[in-house]
Amino acid sequence: MGAETVIIEKNFINGAWEDSGGEKIAVIDPVTEQPIGHVCEASAADVDRAVAAANAAFPAWSALTGAERAAFIRRLSAAIRAHMDDLVALQKRNCGKPPAEAEADFTGSIECLDYFASQAEALDARRQQDIAYDIPGMASVTRLEPMGPAGFILPWNFPMKICAWKLGPALAAGCTVVIKPSEIAPFTDTFWGLAAEEAGLPAGVLNVVNGRGAVTGAALAEHPDLRKIAFTGSTRTGKAVMQAATNGVKNIGLELGGKSPIVVFEDADLDLAARLAAEGVFYNSGQCCNATGRLLVQDSIKEALTEKLLDEFAKVVLGAPDTPGMTMGPLASKAQYDKVTGYMEIARKEGLKCLAGGGPAAQFNSGYFVEPTLYTDVPRESRLWNEEIFGPVLCLRSFASEEEAVREANDTEYGLAATIVTEDDARAARVAARLEAGHIYTNTSVAIPPQTSWGGFKQSGIGRELGPWGLAGFLEVKTVTSRA
Ligand code: NAD
Repeated sequence: MGAETVIIEKNFINGAWEDSGGEKIAVIDPVTEQPIGHVCEASAADVDRAVAAANAAFPAWSALTGAERAAFIRRLSAAIRAHMDDLVALQKRNCGKPPAEAEADFTGSIECLDYFASQAEALDARRQQDIAYDIPGMASVTRLEPMGPAGFILPWNFPMKICAWKLGPALAAGCTVVIKPSEIAPFTDTFWGLAAEEAGLPAGVLNVVNGRGAVTGAALAEHPDLRKIAFTGSTRTGKAVMQAATNGVKNIGLELGGKSPIVVFEDADLDLAARLAAEGVFYNSGQCCNATGRLLVQDSIKEALTEKLLDEFAKVVLGAPDTPGMTMGPLASKAQYDKVTGYMEIARKEGLKCLAGGGPAAQFNSGYFVEPTLYTDVPRESRLWNEEIFGPVLCLRSFASEEEAVREANDTEYGLAATIVTEDDARAARVAARLEAGHIYTNTSVAIPPQTSWGGFKQSGIGRELGPWGLAGFLEVKTVTSRA
């Protein structure tokens, strides 16, 4: 998988690679802007066969013990380990990620699968439990049962890991799955089919269909024979998926966009604050759902922090993934480049004060590179303050009091994550309790370990992935009440 063209014209359905007669979708290298290969689009009929395979495989797969399923899950993570070098190379070419960030997509997937393998084993003991209550003559037990066949619709920003966040708990719970990778970064998620073969997964437990959202994604979202749709992507698409899913009645998990604040109080360690704020918008070129795109800083330290921030901005080295010393790659696609540079244009029209960057990176002959960008004193009503940009663009506003900081931080339609930087533990706890977001970080970077929860308040989503909550997302609860 070095520099050669990658062509995937098959879907992985019922344990076999089936030819897909669908339209070719070119996959583009964001550094050269040239195709690196293509996938073929699965039709609604292909999706139908994949869903039928997942349904046929469900009774036997769900009848295995958790420990038996855990062994398969561990073999999937072994398959990723075995192909790591090729997968990382492919991810760098397809997404323009720096080497360490490309690798993290796979090490994160392995960590997640291994965690859910342990959860599958633990499920054997938890599967049936007495309910303690005091009604004479009656007794109840609960049973945890797998939800059924599930469809996954995936984004391109962390293609593999975000699939692992769904696949680990689904397989652990006893569900079978149909995976639809993003058409922008489809190759490494198609690898799940190869991994399933290497792991010896029974046919139909894991299926992969490629294609665009409007065709393949929509067919999956509206399929009446799935019991769950787990979607990660933009809030706009999430609403369409939710609407399509009402074709039947199915469970739905939505991991959507964000516009996460980082709130820096005057007692903060300013070096740490500058590093966290920069890291929070530069990781994956800012294409993170939890990017810390809104910096709220207390008035008294605004100037000092801005200086330190500019030092952090100056350290960024833009480049192709294999350029020595590069720290930030291009945006992943032309559409994303147009969107981010479009926001920079809006900033000009709005008259925002730009302290760094503010446009495409002119030093490259090709590639979707944009400058790391800092706007300060951004008005509350600015589109850049309110909308998810998904690029290396940081917007700064200042506040006078803790009360104002909380109000500003919460004044958004999103609620995915939030960061607090303060040396005062009591303040950190107080503010964390008041912020409306699914994951609050204090004095640390926005990492997402599989043991914690992930998901958003408000327009950032429905449900939680990871941790025991992620597993619960693929389980039904059945209570059996009997005469004692
Ligand atoms: P997107 O919404 O454009 O696409 C996501 C997926 O939905 C793709 O597979 C696409 O093919 C599919 N799709 C598009 N239209 C569809 C339709 N009508 N029916 C069914 N499927 C359809 O998102 P993206 O650009 O791939 O990803 C970026 C977005 O994802 C950002 O908003 C980001 O915040 C969000 N995201 C959220 C999380 C999270 O955990 N909350 C994680 C990563 C990314």
